[in-house]
Amino acid sequence: MKVGIVGAGMVGSAAGYALALMGTASHIVLVDRDEKLARAQAEDIAHAVPFASSARVEDGGYDALAGCGVVILAAGVSQKPGETRLALLERNAAVFRDVVAEVLRAAPDTILLVATNPVDIMTYIATRISGLPPARVIGSGTILDTARFRWLVGQHLRIAPHSVHAYVLGEHGDSEVLAWSAARAGSVELSSFAAQVGAPITASVRERIDGGVRRAAYTIIEGKGATWYGIGAGLARIVRAIARDEEAVLSVSIRMDAVAGVRDVALSVPRVVGASGVTADLLPHLDPGETEALAASAALLKETGEALAL
Ligand code: ADP
Repeated sequence: MKVGIVGAGMVGSAAGYALALMGTASHIVLVDRDEKLARAQAEDIAHAVPFASSARVEDGGYDALAGCGVVILAAGVSQKPGETRLALLERNAAVFRDVVAEVLRAAPDTILLVATNPVDIMTYIATRISGLPPARVIGSGTILDTARFRWLVGQHLRIAPHSVHAYVLGEHGDSEVLAWSAARAGSVELSSFAAQVGAPITASVRERIDGGVRRAAYTIIEGKGATWYGIGAGLARIVRAIARDEEAVLSVSIRMDAVAGVRDVALSVPRVVGASGVTADLLPHLDPGETEALAASAALLKETGEALAL
């Protein structure tokens, strides 16, 4: 599959690198308003290809996106000193108004994969301005939070993260919800498995893992300024589900008619992802506290969305 990436900064280029190493894309095109940056990133990634796959990697203008099955939107502007979150969001919405129109002109049949933060709001915006069905405008959402959750639970239980079946729902951000009550190790309910292996999930363990997932980005940003490898790999994982028509269950964000009593909002729940985008939502059974937290997360996103002049 031909995959486009608009925004060749840290996140876009990490996604390109992960795609090249995983051999998921046959052809990768990087586009950025900074043409020199796009060229440099494409060349650097292309030099990794002989060690890993046979992908063709190049930079280009929007026309070079013709024929892409997926275009990752990783373009964005960073916060100016003193700028409010909402003002930043409005500038990023303006970037998307330009970018989405250009992408769809070149690749009208593409699926859009939104990575720019705040990703749920940007997914909502991209869905509105593209006019595409929500199933074809997918935000990376909590794909990475879910990976962090599985990794931390796996560490505690001393099992592979792949064998932990657990999801983070809601906003990719502070209000996200770790769905503990639906989590399983293999097919075993988490607390039962934890007791069997002598590693009980006490309130303090739960709090540590919850904080570890929720604050992971802050910790990484403190050390290196931004995060890119985890999300780059997460984006490549979503592209693989589409390119190979996997119908894989992934926690990603799309615009929904209603969730947890809130109407018209984009957020993450586990969803089936394949060649045509999202084909089903799989809302896990939640306990009353988790349901309430999901409703609060949805309400917060709704409020931010409504404050934006779209
Ligand atoms: P991140 O860490 O999220 O990847 P960066 O600032 O490294 O953030 O990357 C964002 C990229 O988006 C930059 O390379 C920037 O040039 C690009 N960009 C911003 N606005 C546009 C636009 N209108 N069209 C194309 N690329 C854009």
